[in-house]
Amino acid sequence: MLSADQLLNELLARARGVTEVEHVATEAVLGRVLAADQVSAITVPPLDNSAMDGYAVRAAECLSDVVLPVSQRIAAGQVGQALQPGSAARIFTGAPVPSGADTVVMQEHCTVQGEGITVNQAPKAGDNIRRAGEDIQRGDVILATGTRLGAAEMGLAASVGLAGLPVFRRLKVASFSTGDELVQPGMPLAAGQIYNSNRYALAGLVQGLGCDWIDLGAVPDTLTDTIDALQRAAQQADVVITSGGVSVGEEDHVKAAVSQLGTLDMWKVAMKPGKPLAYGRIGTADFIGLPGNPVSTFATFCLFARPFLLARMGATSVLPTTYQVRAGFDWPKARERREFLRARLVNTDDGSLQAELFRNQSSGVLTSAVWADGFVDIDIGHTVQRGAPVRFIPFAEVLG
Ligand code: AMP
Ligand code: MG
Repeated sequence: MLSADQLLNELLARARGVTEVEHVATEAVLGRVLAADQVSAITVPPLDNSAMDGYAVRAAECLSDVVLPVSQRIAAGQVGQALQPGSAARIFTGAPVPSGADTVVMQEHCTVQGEGITVNQAPKAGDNIRRAGEDIQRGDVILATGTRLGAAEMGLAASVGLAGLPVFRRLKVASFSTGDELVQPGMPLAAGQIYNSNRYALAGLVQGLGCDWIDLGAVPDTLTDTIDALQRAAQQADVVITSGGVSVGEEDHVKAAVSQLGTLDMWKVAMKPGKPLAYGRIGTADFIGLPGNPVSTFATFCLFARPFLLARMGATSVLPTTYQVRAGFDWPKARERREFLRARLVNTDDGSLQAELFRNQSSGVLTSAVWADGFVDIDIGHTVQRGAPVRFIPFAEVLG
């Protein structure tokens, strides 16, 4: 049996990042992966500028009984004249600070006296000035190759004038569910049947990562149907992800089908939910076979398929940030498998965050994943007492 960390290493060792690059308008790069370092050609902000609506002055001249005549008015987008000694410039947020001025006094601290002002509170030199280059220096690498582009990155690229960015092409991920018992939502259920939920969870998981999702629906539990579906999937996609059919039952045909079409690594992972997970190659496509229990599918996708796909997309940061919180539960018995328990975070009176467990941790109970905020990760052989620190993996870190 492999540990969860070993499995992750095995998978990541097999992830070859895409190399094809396309140029995409900055407003359309959400979720894409940057294909080249971006160097700023400019300094941001380009000039010292005012952080306030107020008056640009020399701090040493601001004595409470001195009226400083207002000699000019500088709005954002304008450049003023050098500030003459003994005067003030009306200035607005974002406007360049005129040469000669060393301070901006906020208007609330000034009193208008005819054509001039008095400053009511002695300012400190440098107050309320945003310095040229305090954000970005010309020549800085503002975004590195392999960065996943979100809202902040899009804004930063635009702030140095980049109208478009080189990104890796989108990854194509095909998925299908296996199981004779599965019925598509919208159809009536007969005895013995269940609705196919993994197809929909996978649709969200795959698309949430910014991959193109190629849907092959549900496939009956026969070897020929499974081979046919795998072949079709592998021809269209970079990565094929399936759910179910990877156990050792007579109705589990995925492993045999992958072995016939390509190569297969089959792993038993010492974790719960989860356990069996398959990796293979069919032609140029990667294959990942997830277990069929809905919570197992969800958890193994988040913990293993997601880092693999991110690495395959060309991203450099593929692992979730985790947090230490306090256990709001007792876990008295050490287990032989690492547990990824569905838990919710609660604020306690002492200000710490405490993880509470969903009442039913069965790998078939998908309600737990909706109720929870993330996974509590309890290692093999560990017990936990209420109040002790535990590792928490927020869903926000593994969805999308
Ligand atoms: P399997 O891995 O195929 O043995 O399936 C394990 C369990 O997960 C069984 O109870 C299946 O009915 C259930 N299951 C498998 N695939 C799905 C699916 N797509 N949607 C909902 N439940 C599933
Ligand atoms: Mg099955």
